[in-house]
Amino acid sequence: MEQELIELDGSIGEGGGQILRSALSLSVITGRPFRLRRIRANRAKPGLMRQHLTCVQAAAQISAADVTGAELQSSELRFVPKTLVAGAHHFAIGTAGSTMLVVQTLLPMLLAAPGESRITVEGGTHNMMAPSSCFLNRVFLPQLRRIGADVELVVEREGLFPAGGGRIVLKVRPSKLKPVELSERGALRGIGAEALLAAVPEHVGLREITAVADHFRLRREQVRHRDLGHQTGPGNVLSVWAEFEHVCELVTVHGERRVAAEQVAERACTELDTYLSSAAVAGEYLADQMLLPLWLSGEGGYRCGEPSSHTLTNLDTLGRFGGPSIECRKLAEGVHEIATTRPEVSSRA
Ligand code: ATP
Repeated sequence: MEQELIELDGSIGEGGGQILRSALSLSVITGRPFRLRRIRANRAKPGLMRQHLTCVQAAAQISAADVTGAELQSSELRFVPKTLVAGAHHFAIGTAGSTMLVVQTLLPMLLAAPGESRITVEGGTHNMMAPSSCFLNRVFLPQLRRIGADVELVVEREGLFPAGGGRIVLKVRPSKLKPVELSERGALRGIGAEALLAAVPEHVGLREITAVADHFRLRREQVRHRDLGHQTGPGNVLSVWAEFEHVCELVTVHGERRVAAEQVAERACTELDTYLSSAAVAGEYLADQMLLPLWLSGEGGYRCGEPSSHTLTNLDTLGRFGGPSIECRKLAEGVHEIATTRPEVSSRA
């Protein structure tokens, strides 16, 4: 029997691409079809861009879906998944669009697939407004492994915005997720930094990591710079992270023309200091990215700071597909908990 279409409005809340990406993941996992109107209505260039279109095509291939509206700039999409096909797939975004957002879309469904998958994606690995491959490898994937996900991300070639040219391989085995328990950071294990350079002079990276090392009083071996060569670029990305026993936070700042390396470093240090002086356990971006794994696991929760509008919009999208109910509760000023709600105990029981 045809399942009822879930009707989604892409202009609600943040009105960005996350509504689409989460809807694709949830639709394939639940087998429930959806129609999304007004796609990315609140963005300067609304509709499907290359990265979003690749997410749609990839999810459609993996679920043998019937799709209408899968075109560039399309503002309406109808997606009817049929099954879940594991295995090897290759997707090329065709621009510097973020490979990590394609990974974000596919990973939850591949954890629920009947067999092992190996997904190759070509495009950008370090984009603005998206998690970098460093973020996934240091922050997000370790959290998934903590709850039992068997997943590996291999970066074969970095691709920095705006040139792109990166290639990654995602390897996933079906995994039953355990409850999410992330209420404490644990002890600080270390702070580190890496500057990536593509067709940008070496002194830029050296100055960035030296400024970070001075700010956090780090030893030389805690910071590094890596030259990616001239095949891609120009591009420069500085990542600075703080690794705790149970969680890691990583901030990313993209170097820009006419912005001094020291200023790039200062922005990154200020952003990391904000996290360090807060009571959040999951940082702002990890908090929105952990919603789907929490929904999949069906139990548990994590502590974070003030939820972003991105997180609240994502929470709303999850609610449209049924499954465990998740809420965001304020615990104290600037401290929130995102957790599954325990079923009410009936007063007549
Ligand atoms: P668009 O319509 O432009 O595609 P979007 O809703 O897809 O919008 P964003 O709100 O920018 O895009 O967020 C996309 C994802 O990227 C989110 O999961 C967010 O956590 C992640 N993200 C954005 N910036 C960072 C960052 N600096 N570090 C880690 N993750 C990030």
